[in-house]
Amino acid sequence: MILLNDFKRLYQEIKNEISEAVTAVGESGWLILGKEVAAFEETIQSVVNAKAAVGVASGLDALEIALRTLGIGPQVKVLTTPLSAFATTLAILKVGAKPVFVDVDETGLIDLEEVSSALNRDPSIRCFIPVHLYGHAMNLDELKKLKRKYGIFIIEDCAQAILAQSNGQPVGNVGDIAAYSLYPTKNLGCFGDGGFATTSNHDYAEKMKCLRDYGQTTKYEHTLLGLNSRLDELHAAILNRALLPKLNAVTQQRKKIAKTYLEKIKNSQIQLPKIPKGSDSVWHLFPILSDARNDLQRYLANQGIQTAVHYPKLICDQPALQNYQGGYDKLGELSYAKKFVNCELSLPLNPFLTNDEVEKVIIACNEWRK
Ligand SMILES: *Cc1c(COP(=O)(O)O)cnc(C)c1O
Repeated sequence: MILLNDFKRLYQEIKNEISEAVTAVGESGWLILGKEVAAFEETIQSVVNAKAAVGVASGLDALEIALRTLGIGPQVKVLTTPLSAFATTLAILKVGAKPVFVDVDETGLIDLEEVSSALNRDPSIRCFIPVHLYGHAMNLDELKKLKRKYGIFIIEDCAQAILAQSNGQPVGNVGDIAAYSLYPTKNLGCFGDGGFATTSNHDYAEKMKCLRDYGQTTKYEHTLLGLNSRLDELHAAILNRALLPKLNAVTQQRKKIAKTYLEKIKNSQIQLPKIPKGSDSVWHLFPILSDARNDLQRYLANQGIQTAVHYPKLICDQPALQNYQGGYDKLGELSYAKKFVNCELSLPLNPFLTNDEVEKVIIACNEWRK
């Protein structure tokens, strides 16, 4: 079976470094918020070109902590995309704010022209969470313009897009805060749950450190109603020794496989991914479109090729939203987002795929007829 993710191969490749990490943390006698987390934060902030990084327990928490740091609470309207991991919107719901959904464009990422007209029409929208979906970088110059023109807060959801660039500029630096996930499937994943947030604002960084740790400023002095959302020393130690050193190579490998797919998959019944202008994508996923998606998925499974749908339901159609006290808005028909829900299929794309496996996926796609 050609897998979407292969954590057994990953473990085989890094098991010595994992053992060293466990030993180092064990012998240090320090398990929570110690020098491994501090070292991870220092490294990762330079990797993503930020002034400060704060390790937290998940990407969801990074988003919630970012919202709370910016003072986004009940009734505040937050623009976002209906096509993303549920966590993007769940963070908005958790702070009691009101999500406003705007359609995506042909790339699957939120349509910035629609965003602009929404902001024009409704000055009460105070915050925008763009998602650099599939590993594509949204147009950062346009994001900057929106921020300046409308004076909104922006939180960039970079969970799928670490190291992606737009016109040579890394994602995560235009918004007030950027949120990243270290969930194992992400381009930089850890051996369990984890995440981090970055910012160039020192006060925001301090507030996020306070919020992740029960809202305490010093020991037993609680100034905010915080969370327990700390990145573990053990995860940080594994990241520092085993996973971070591989991030560049892993990203190059993803780009290489995506390039091969783009060049060699040729089937009029399969639409290859469209990329936002100026995006140097890091290919977290390889999303193709077909109007016989379910048939294609079954066919590929029979050929031993695992695929997945990102995402099978619009976030605003999820049952959890229908019961949400704070309500939500959606602007227009969301027809592009619906097209992705009905037609999207993600092909295997991970750094462990061999050339033969990539070739097998290409041949299978090229031979398929609906
Ligand atoms: C994975 C993901 C999240 C949530 O991250 P977790 O670490 O799983 O909480 C948020 N947004 C996007 C776009 C994601 O892909």
